[in-house]
Amino acid sequence: MEFFPIFMKLKQQPCLVVGGGEVALRKASLLEAAGAMVCIVSPELHPELQAKVDAGNMQHINGFFEPSQVEGKRIVIAATDDQTVNEAVYHAAEARSIPVNVVDQSELCRFIMPAIVDRSPLMIAVSTGGGVPVLARQMRTRLESLVPHGFGQLAKLASEFRVKAKSALPDVGTRRQFWEEALQGSIAEKVFAGKLEEARRDLEEQLSTPDIARYQRGAVYLVGGGPGNPDLLTFRALRLMQEADVVLYDNLVAPAIVELVRRDAERIYVGKKTNQHTLPQDDINQLLVKLAKEGKKVLRLKGGDPFIFGRGGEEIETLAENGIPFEVVPGITSAAGASCYAGIPLTHRDYAQACTFVTGHRREGEEALDWPRLVQKNETVVVYMGVGQSASICQQLILHGRDKDTPAAIVEQATTDNQRVITGTLTTLPELITEKGVKSPALIIIGDVVKLHDKLAWRG
Ligand code: SAH
Repeated sequence: MEFFPIFMKLKQQPCLVVGGGEVALRKASLLEAAGAMVCIVSPELHPELQAKVDAGNMQHINGFFEPSQVEGKRIVIAATDDQTVNEAVYHAAEARSIPVNVVDQSELCRFIMPAIVDRSPLMIAVSTGGGVPVLARQMRTRLESLVPHGFGQLAKLASEFRVKAKSALPDVGTRRQFWEEALQGSIAEKVFAGKLEEARRDLEEQLSTPDIARYQRGAVYLVGGGPGNPDLLTFRALRLMQEADVVLYDNLVAPAIVELVRRDAERIYVGKKTNQHTLPQDDINQLLVKLAKEGKKVLRLKGGDPFIFGRGGEEIETLAENGIPFEVVPGITSAAGASCYAGIPLTHRDYAQACTFVTGHRREGEEALDWPRLVQKNETVVVYMGVGQSASICQQLILHGRDKDTPAAIVEQATTDNQRVITGTLTTLPELITEKGVKSPALIIIGDVVKLHDKLAWRG
C-alpha cells in the first residue's frame, strides 16, 4: 500500500494553498467545501479566488511563499508552476511534519487527493497512488453511474436511525443483518424513488418491533465462483460475497475471487485436491451446519458451478437434513468458460449435436465410464479432472471405437491470464500433456469442434 487512505475533518482548520491560478482555485474550493479556513499565498489571484477572498471566505497573503507560512497549518498544498517554489513548500512542510501535497508530483507529496464521488455523507474516494490519475478518474466515472444519487439521502436516513437501531438491536451481528436488509431492500428503493417519508416510517416501524429472530437466523449460500476470472462472477455471487460472515473456499477458487469477499469476513480454507483433502467432505458438511446454527451467514464458495462435479448436492443434503435455510447460486462451469475462452464451441451444427460432461476421477470401487456412450462421432466429450488419466481415457475411447485422429484439446486454467490451450488428437494429446507439463485445473475437450480453435481462438 503506497498511500494510507484516511478521511480528515478540516472544519475550521487552517490550511495553506500556495499559488493563485486555476489549479489553486480547484484545490482551495475543495478545502472550502470541507469547511477549512483557507489561506492563499500568491502575488496574483484568479478572479474567482479574488471573489472568495473579497467575500471573506478565504484569506490572502499577497506576496511570495515563505517557509514560516506553513506554521500551524493542518495541511499544505502547492499549486504553482514554479518548481523551485513547489519544492520549497514541500521541504518547509516536511521539516515541520505538516502533511503536504504538490499537485501532480507524487514524489513531492506526503498525501494525495483522491478522485471523489460525493454522495454526502457517503463519500467514495479513488486513488491510483498518484501515478495514473486518468485511471482514477475513469473509475470515478464508473462509480458515478453505479451509485444512485439517492445514496446520499439513504446514508443520511440511516444515520438518523443509528442510535435507535443500536438500542433496539444491541447485538452487532443482528444489527448488521438488519442494515444489510434495510439498505438493499424496499427501504432503499423507496428512498431512490423519492419516497423519503415512507421509507422513514418503515424504518421507524421495523425498529419499534424488531423481528430479532429473523436477523439472527443463520443460512448457507452455496455459490459458484466460476472458472477463475473474477469478471465471470454473477451479481448474486458478488453480493453474497460482500454480505457473508464467514466464507469456506477450496483451492479451485482463484485468489482474485477470494479477494472480493468482504474484508472482515472470516475465511476458512478447506482446500481440496484429488486424494488430498484438507478437510474431509463430511467435516465440511458438518462445519457448514455448525456455523449456520451459530446464526452466521455462511458462504460456501465453489469453483465453477456448485452442482457440476462440485459435491454441492452432498453439502446441501446435510443442510436440508438439519433444517438450515440455504440458497444455491449457479456459476459458470469450467467447461463453458474453457469453451468460450478457447474458441471451441461445445456444439456446432456442422460438428456436434450433443455434448457430454464426464469426470476422469473415479471414487475407489466406482464403475468405469460408460465408454460406448462416449464414442459418437458427432458428439463432444468434456472431461473434468482428467489430466492425470488422460492417457487411459484417450486409449479407452479409441478402443471403444472413436477415431484415433479425433481432434482433442486440453485447456489449462481456462479464462484466467494463465490460460493455455494445447490441441492434438486422441493419439497425440496425452503425450503433449506430459511434454508441456500441463497441470490441474485443466479440461480435456474431445470432438471435431476442436478443429474450430484455430479459427475462433481470441484469447490464445
Ligand atoms: N464445479 C466445477 C468443477 C469442479 S471439478 C465446475 O463447474 O467447473 C474440478 C475440475 O474442474 C478440475 O480438475 C478441472 O478439470 C476443472 N476446472 C475447474 N476450473 C478450471 C479452469 N479454470 N480451467 C480448466 N479446468 C478447470
